[in-house]
Amino acid sequence: MKELDIKLSYQCNNACIFCLNKDKRRSGNPFEMIKETVGSFAKNGGEKLIVSGGEPLISEHFFELLIFAKQSGIKSLEIQTNARMLYYENMVRKLKEFEPIGFLVSFHFPNDQLYRKYSQSNGFHQTVQGMKNLMKHDCSFSTNTVIMKPNLPYLKDIIKILKELKIRRSQYRFIDGKNVIDNYKEFVPRYSECLSLVKEVLKENPDIRISLREFPVCVVGEEFKNYLAFCINPGRLNLTTQGMVLTTKKIEGDQFVFPNCENCLYNRSGCSGVRKEYVDVYGIKEFKPIIK
Ligand code: SF4
Repeated sequence: MKELDIKLSYQCNNACIFCLNKDKRRSGNPFEMIKETVGSFAKNGGEKLIVSGGEPLISEHFFELLIFAKQSGIKSLEIQTNARMLYYENMVRKLKEFEPIGFLVSFHFPNDQLYRKYSQSNGFHQTVQGMKNLMKHDCSFSTNTVIMKPNLPYLKDIIKILKELKIRRSQYRFIDGKNVIDNYKEFVPRYSECLSLVKEVLKENPDIRISLREFPVCVVGEEFKNYLAFCINPGRLNLTTQGMVLTTKKIEGDQFVFPNCENCLYNRSGCSGVRKEYVDVYGIKEFKPIIK
């Protein structure tokens, strides 16, 4: 499917310490340029628009963009959100008018105290209510939990909440450490440090479809390969802050490396590789080529 990811704005109602876009709050593209990009994407057969940010639901242009996208012929929408605005049920009702529409909801902490500490807002109850509203209105969505040192001890508590809400799909995405580079070891665990717990959660919760993103195959182990969401559609288009449209493959190609991988079965196919910063800080010992 032809996809385009638009960062509508980098403004956010949270200020997550680990946010991968926190250095871009003041950047972003003019709305007219975003519309032009969406219009030409649709004209060229584009089918799916992913609207992310920042927090797209606080943008004054949010609904204008959705209406424009539908009128231009975009078939489906995905909104990546912290769900705080979905606390307002009317917002969810209004969004339902744009079906087919799906949501990826950021959910990294299981209580108000941790949410305040790391997302620097009092939005925990809004996010939880937002997810309840999505469930109530039968919206298609998955949660996204960034795996990092601050939430590792609480993964089971997070899952417990998802179960209580009857949420059935979740993604664990390994932290992108670029924006915590000065405190890298405080936020980024070694894979070997977090995987036994992650695997325990996977085994204990077969009723929730959990996918792992940005975990190399060799550290996860082939027996858990089926949990890996290998990569975002590499052909997905992205409007960059510099106003260029680049494929995910190009963007990720500049961010990931394949250390120690030359003879591996998964070298550049099926494995997402490892972020450059990780290798710089923790080295390459954990990555062992899989050779049949
Ligand atoms: S050795 Fe490299 S390509 Fe192979 S699974 Fe590990 S990181 Fe991926």
